[in-house]
Amino acid sequence: MATSHDYDVIIIGAGPIGLACGIEARKNGLSYLIIEKGCLVNSLYNYPLNMTFFSTSERLEIGEVPFISHGAKPNRVEALEYFRRVSTTWNLNVKLYEKVLSLEHEGTGHLIKTTKDVYTCSQAILALGFYDLPYLLNVPGEELSKVKHYYDEPHPYFGQKIIVVGAANSAVDVALETYRKGADVTMVVREPEIAESVKYWVKPDIENRIKEGSIKAYFNSEIIRIDDISVEIKTQEGIHVLENDFVLAMTGYQPPFDFMNACGIKFREDEFHTPVYNEQTMETNVPNLYLAGVVCGGLKTNKWFIENSRVHAKLIIDAIKKNAGEQNAIQSD
Ligand SMILES: Cc1cc2nc3c(=O)[nH]c(=O)nc-3n(C[C@H](O)[C@H](O)[C@H](O)COP(=O)(O)OP(=O)(O)OC[C@H]3O[C@@H](n4cnc5c(N)ncnc54)[C@H](O)[C@@H]3O)c2cc1C
Repeated sequence: MATSHDYDVIIIGAGPIGLACGIEARKNGLSYLIIEKGCLVNSLYNYPLNMTFFSTSERLEIGEVPFISHGAKPNRVEALEYFRRVSTTWNLNVKLYEKVLSLEHEGTGHLIKTTKDVYTCSQAILALGFYDLPYLLNVPGEELSKVKHYYDEPHPYFGQKIIVVGAANSAVDVALETYRKGADVTMVVREPEIAESVKYWVKPDIENRIKEGSIKAYFNSEIIRIDDISVEIKTQEGIHVLENDFVLAMTGYQPPFDFMNACGIKFREDEFHTPVYNEQTMETNVPNLYLAGVVCGGLKTNKWFIENSRVHAKLIIDAIKKNAGEQNAIQSD
């Protein structure tokens, strides 16, 4: 315990974008370490087993490693295989199952404490994602084991009365998949309709299933209590008690704001609690601390994804190289 290791760059999070940052650091001859609290691409590992990405495979590529999938759009298993291959192709320096507990800005660099060790670095990149903290329903009964905030596969719900909470992409995918595998599905949706952002090739499917009554839906409604055999919901027409076996709360996830706060990162006063960073360099208000990937969007979790945030890696490493060049020039003056 407590051995100290010093790196040019430490990257927290081995999701696709953390790996992209590691590759870019390596390409530029920087010493680097990626620290991940779970397995490689931990968020993707925890996605629904049968999910298919909405992006075509070449748009998920990093480090010039080709991503060939069976269909135009890869599935979870293909993505896991792809990112394992990326990691071995680039021989990335990744420590898995090691959670970062704190990052303190010290001098011009950072001191990082994990569950296993202590490190120092000149530059740090937070590529933390947002898949660890689900929005809670905050209702009595939420702690029951029948209430899930993550969905894996449909089989356990065969022949069961399930409630799917939410009306965005995840909720719609879960409602359709469980319905098609024999669950009795009711959606409880706070908004007046299925979200506009639902994938255009899926939206008519869910709307037609609701229209024909195969999937029941309560709009402008919310759960107010859950017990072992039923759920109470508040609708515009009053309170209903529904018989129920499982509640799948697909209500979204939020970035680790507490951790970011503790690192000294400031937030804008907008509705999304967007972290403060320079869009050209991705550097936060804390000197030499950068943000990469989906975490940059704050609560606007559909702003950044793999496709459009892969570029963060190059922006950051270019900025680090430029800063280092300027420092050297000052020292040699
Ligand atoms: C169902 C679903 C489908 C999607 N489909 C697509 C798609 O088709 N195309 C697309 O571009 N995007 C898609 N996305 C979004 C995409 O998966 C995410 O944008 C992607 O995971 C973001 O990568 P990231 O590296 O920023 O974050 P993540 O992949 O979430 O990685 C963050 C990592 O940081 C780790 N971490 C967090 N805190 C700590 C800590 N304290 N210490 C150590 N490690 C830590 C986490 O364990 C995690 O592995 C989809 C998302 C979902 C949920």
